[in-house]
Amino acid sequence: MTLHNGREFLSIPGPTTVPDEVLSAMHRPATDIYSGELVAITESVLQDLKTVFKTTGNTYIYISNGHGGWEAALTNVLSRGDKILVCESGRFALGWGDVGKFLGVDAEILPGDWRSAVDPNELEARLRADKDGDIKAVLCVQIDTASGVVNDIPAIRNAIDAVGHEALLMVDAIASLACMPFDMDTWGVDVAVAGSQKGLMTPPGLAFVAVNQKAKARHANAGLRSPYWDWTKREGEEHYMKFSGTPPVQMLFGIRKALDMLFDEGLEHVFERHRLLAGATWAAVSEWRQGGAFDFNITEAAQRSVTVTTIRMINDEEPALLLKFCKEQLGTVLGIGIGEIGSSAFRIAHMGHVNAPMMMGTLGAIEIGLCATGIAHGTYGVPGGVRAAAAFLGDELSLLK
Ligand SMILES: *Cc1c(COP(=O)(O)O)cnc(C)c1O
Repeated sequence: MTLHNGREFLSIPGPTTVPDEVLSAMHRPATDIYSGELVAITESVLQDLKTVFKTTGNTYIYISNGHGGWEAALTNVLSRGDKILVCESGRFALGWGDVGKFLGVDAEILPGDWRSAVDPNELEARLRADKDGDIKAVLCVQIDTASGVVNDIPAIRNAIDAVGHEALLMVDAIASLACMPFDMDTWGVDVAVAGSQKGLMTPPGLAFVAVNQKAKARHANAGLRSPYWDWTKREGEEHYMKFSGTPPVQMLFGIRKALDMLFDEGLEHVFERHRLLAGATWAAVSEWRQGGAFDFNITEAAQRSVTVTTIRMINDEEPALLLKFCKEQLGTVLGIGIGEIGSSAFRIAHMGHVNAPMMMGTLGAIEIGLCATGIAHGTYGVPGGVRAAAAFLGDELSLLK
């Protein structure tokens, strides 16, 4: 017996569910790439990305995934042998640092423990010790999709400023942009990276980089510049130069529609929706964890991200059977654990094109799975996660207040 017929629920933290409107917008024949609608769409997307990143700086669109966005960011501002400081809080800043190492950059890790956010005081202490200003850039993710942590980017900036350090602040906002506030100019972020397939609700295939004047000044002397990623080349007038070649036609129609949907909903509303759906998830997990079989990976509630919740089994048990059951019997795909906590963790995504019934459906599927696989959950064996999630949303949305 299985109950998985019908549309599969994808609850992984990227790629995320693509709205039907975006899919329809992409369904079109090859078009003229030298003039007309597509050229206007490129211009409008570059402009609207500034609104999403909240910057008056420059934006660039790459045909690539997030890893390409990482490489674009690094090659445009660094030279071989430069030192960078990589703030660990999970898997993803480390991965970005590895790209730097491959490029010949000296990547030092500011160690973190995967269960909490980057500590701005530790960053400040490390920068204070860098008397000669060897560190050219600080790399940090806003949300780490492996650990489920959210880092406090303004606090990271304050740590850099407290020392008067000249390092660039480079932020990976791939799992957070268009899901929670990101305020590039106000926060003093010099380079920011995002991708199409997370909060931006579009299939994987586009990376976005936003850059301020300070980063542009470093760009002038960067030794790692290469033709495909180069910002200066991409500022050429001709449409093809914005992409260093043929533009990603259907993807551009897709991201245009996705941005329209986000603006129609209103970014503030989008952020609030993520906060509420994350809150429902946390209410459920807080109930389930009473069973003693698993817990939040991120210890402090305030450091849990609004886009993905990472759950860690106690005693290094493996949630593999639960994930298999949810997928095969219930048509609900949960995120596997990745990185050093991999096999003993799983992840619930609440990122991008998600609404209340989707979230409640996912939580309901997990609760069925917990019952069916015999994983202890709830108080005195009473499964109450879904009830707690519903109560949370009912209270937040109450018409009686
Ligand atoms: C998904 C993700 C990436 C990598 O993006 P790809 O498109 O898989 O290359 C990088 N950083 C964060 C925080 C992510 O969530």
